[in-house]
Amino acid sequence: MDTYPTNLSLPAPDRLLIEWSDGEQRVCTIRELRFACPCATCREKMSKPPEPAASRSLPILSNAELQPLRIVKMQPLGNYAYNVAFSDGHDTGIYPFELLRELGEPKR
Ligand SMILES: [Zn+2]
Repeated sequence: MDTYPTNLSLPAPDRLLIEWSDGEQRVCTIRELRFACPCATCREKMSKPPEPAASRSLPILSNAELQPLRIVKMQPLGNYAYNVAFSDGHDTGIYPFELLRELGEPKR
């Protein structure tokens, strides 16, 4: 891995800007970051087929889900990843640099 984040910032409360060691700057939304969470719990949730409509109860949004999603904390983990804590209470996601690099789009 030759490129690594040199700076992290929040240009808007729902946007994360990552500056990389090779000069690339990419912006992604917090929601995109959250959905890309590579932890086992989230991956399992995403891969599950939707339940048949008949047995599905109406989804109820929890209080946390109604709040705009924010990053509570972002902590470097070794020299290969970041651990991200979100305002919905989820804080077990480990984001390797490779994954962070693919998120969002180049800053214009
Ligand atoms: Zn997760």
